[in-house]
Amino acid sequence: MAKKQFKAESKRLLDLMINSIYTNKEIFLREIISNASDAIDKLCYQSLTDDQVGLNRDDFRIDVILDKEARTITVRDNGIGMTQQEAENNLGVIARSGSYAFKSELGEKKDEELNIIGQFGVGFYSAFMVSDEVTVLTRRYGEETATRWYSAGADGYTVTEDTRPSAGTDVIMHLKPDTEDEDYSTYLETWKIRSLIKKYSDYVRWPICMDVERSERFDTGEKNEDGSAKYDYKTVTENETINSMIPIWQRSKSEVSDEDCMKFYKEKFHAQKDPCALVRINAEGQVSYKAMLFVPGETDEMYLIREDREGITLYSNGVMIMEKCEKLTHDYFEFVKGVVDSPDLSLNISREILQHDRQLKIIGQNIEKRIKGELEKLQKEDRPKYEEFFKNFGIHLKAGVCEEYGMQKDFLRDLLLFYTSEDRQLTLKEYVSNMPESQKAIYYATADTVKHAMSLPQCEEVRSRGYELIYLTSALDEMVVQTLMDYEGKKFCNVVTEDLGFETEEEKKAVEERNTESKDLLDFVKESLGEEVAKVRLSGKLATQPSALTTEGGITLEMEKYFQHGPNQEMRSIKATRVLEVNPDNAMFKALQTAWNDGDKEKAAGIAKILNTLAKLMAGVEIEDPASFTKQIADLF
Ligand code: ADP
Repeated sequence: MAKKQFKAESKRLLDLMINSIYTNKEIFLREIISNASDAIDKLCYQSLTDDQVGLNRDDFRIDVILDKEARTITVRDNGIGMTQQEAENNLGVIARSGSYAFKSELGEKKDEELNIIGQFGVGFYSAFMVSDEVTVLTRRYGEETATRWYSAGADGYTVTEDTRPSAGTDVIMHLKPDTEDEDYSTYLETWKIRSLIKKYSDYVRWPICMDVERSERFDTGEKNEDGSAKYDYKTVTENETINSMIPIWQRSKSEVSDEDCMKFYKEKFHAQKDPCALVRINAEGQVSYKAMLFVPGETDEMYLIREDREGITLYSNGVMIMEKCEKLTHDYFEFVKGVVDSPDLSLNISREILQHDRQLKIIGQNIEKRIKGELEKLQKEDRPKYEEFFKNFGIHLKAGVCEEYGMQKDFLRDLLLFYTSEDRQLTLKEYVSNMPESQKAIYYATADTVKHAMSLPQCEEVRSRGYELIYLTSALDEMVVQTLMDYEGKKFCNVVTEDLGFETEEEKKAVEERNTESKDLLDFVKESLGEEVAKVRLSGKLATQPSALTTEGGITLEMEKYFQHGPNQEMRSIKATRVLEVNPDNAMFKALQTAWNDGDKEKAAGIAKILNTLAKLMAGVEIEDPASFTKQIADLF
């Protein structure tokens, strides 16, 4: 019997499969089962209009048969089958759908080839990743004879006439011998195949059946010494349906309650707590898909360091095509878990293609909107729960605002919460709507804690006018504010470094004049503090405090602290440009002036140092030598 040659492009793919060192070979089963399921779909569809089919919906099934002795896995379906011509056409060439994309993606690079295999649904040929011989025995519905297609690899295939009792297809895969690196025999184990069916094909619409052995207790008929029945165990083989078939997300809201969804979430993601938000989507239109998504109710401490983070699993008609589809949503929603199932997605999907896939993009945008909507609802309806969510995952949203040069800031800003006191957090919308008419800016202060930020001397003046401040507690918070720039036309104003806009022109002029008058003294203060500060000036901003530390330029004290603790050596040397502001109406400045006028430079320098150290303390900056500071204070008395 003459061997027929594969077409050139198929041969290339086949070569790849045969020689594949790709680790995820297990997907072959998913591919073969999906084909079986499609073939059943076709015959089932035909049976709607054709009484001759003679099968009811319940009669369709896929059998997986393991034969350790023969070293084969058979996937059998009673679907539409293939004629000899169809077998040749369909199995002799790469499936139309993915072939062009595959070829253009592939280029000539070997490493990429491997990567692509893993992400592609490479269809029937994937059988060759684990098999050295593949036989397909198939009979087309309506035909009397069957066809045996056989190939032992790249050198071609044969087709012969054969028999099969009824329509359908057997794909018989003879496993490769085990090697040092690859244990193909594991695919002959029931537990392994069961787990693969569960993992990839759990929601295939048709029952996937397999013989499963289990041990069963039976009454031996004999009696124990105490007269009780004597039992023993025997191994029984039962044909079981392995897959659960109907995916919960495919069912309508009236059939599946929110509680059912919560239960599904806890089971699938091994979670202890209910999720804090649930999104169910049944979209039809431009792209049809169903989605069931969850925002977790708790963080898992190991989450950030784990590599196998759960996310959104992508299905196409119940067949899993990507376990963790990262590109579906932006990173800021990476904590969202769940499933998206769309019949419009082709099985032939690769990570590279994914980014350009228009349908996925549309789905991604839609689900992001829905997730956001659900979070906003939670924010309004259950604030404590939302605050808990924000405590756990707010950092992702904040990072999202800053990423991509603020591209996503408008989408995310209303999800953010800001502290306005230790136990009160507001959205920017709420903050702005609480603003009195006279308030022109959104005032903020940053420190390591809210309490500390509240105690910054520069905040006093703002609060005394009846304005609220938001208190930021990290460099990321500061970056968020700098990226947002404004909200509803109100600019953010850092009370430590920026002009609060309270002083009239006259008041400003008066302070300027006092600065000019005291120039020599201020120069002296700067000199005695050396590198500690870049400038010293009198300020009209300080109500009761003698002094305060502020900065000029883009780097604030909080950012400096952040860089100091960072891993980057170069960054650690980044310093804020410090300015010591002195309150000219405070007794300490008066004492400084007196000492200076009396020519007591030593005393004046001492007071200057105290003013600077007090400012540092207030700003939460570490003081290097607390002992000498204490002594300086004690010496005053
Ligand atoms: P795809 O499924 O993406 O089309 P495959 O390489 O997996 O690509 O399969 C090629 C074709 O072979 C299928 O489209 C189908 O026509 C045919 N085929 C494969 N398996 C079966 C089967 N079990 N029953 C009937 N036809 C099949």
